[in-house]
Amino acid sequence: MSLPIKLISTDFDGTLHADFETPPVPHDLQELIGDLQRQGAKWAINTGRDLTGVMEGIARARLTIRPDYLVVVEREIYIHEGSQYVGSEIWNRECADAHKELFARVLPDMPQIVDWVNQRFAATIYEDPYSPFCLIAQNNGDADAIQAYLETYCTQVPNLAVVRNDIYARFSHVAYNKGTALAEIGRQLGISKEHTLAAGDHLNDLPMLNVNFARCLVAPDNAVPLVKEQVKRQNGYISHQPWGHGVARGLEFYLEQGLVSSEGQTNGT
Ligand SMILES: [Mg+2]
Repeated sequence: MSLPIKLISTDFDGTLHADFETPPVPHDLQELIGDLQRQGAKWAINTGRDLTGVMEGIARARLTIRPDYLVVVEREIYIHEGSQYVGSEIWNRECADAHKELFARVLPDMPQIVDWVNQRFAATIYEDPYSPFCLIAQNNGDADAIQAYLETYCTQVPNLAVVRNDIYARFSHVAYNKGTALAEIGRQLGISKEHTLAAGDHLNDLPMLNVNFARCLVAPDNAVPLVKEQVKRQNGYISHQPWGHGVARGLEFYLEQGLVSSEGQTNGT
């Protein structure tokens, strides 16, 4: 039997995983994903965390299942091989080169950008290997205002984008995000968007919550309004349950839908 969903892409924090829940990833969701993996489906965790951060999150959550792919910092791809996650060489190299070139263009403007933020907000700003500008705002209102300023700046620099997640933001290349990384995984596996499901809760998930990358879209109840609106606009599934519980309901919804259509039945439920 052909599986309706062959590739699952889940955000980590607030979507798959809730820190304050026990267990942080619901057992029924782990069973659902595990069953699909045993039938040949592939699962990617698609996150803004870096590799160390997501590996730590997986270990702490004591997951019974392992993702086949990781997308980290919303851009780099790692593939599960044996006990390791190995970088997807060509994609990661091209991604690093594109960012290096882009950030060389941005670097001279950094003092001016940092000054603008510091004069108006008590925010934490730093540079890391992934972006010359990383922001931790004090609250979402401050982050909204800073994001608007950064987006205006981005209009002056070809290919520059702001990636925002809650009170965090960084710069990135427009060609590399959760959506394009998901498309690359689908390309490597030979799985089309018709058989792909994406689930996310925050602004950095918007690029993958798009029918151009995944026909099946899921937002848990805790998703921010913009995410719910985008998923709803594309006839995706919005759960009344939060975090991983919502993702489990979304998976069940699409699996039932797929089974109904493959059996040629229709019903009104
Ligand atoms: Mg999230």
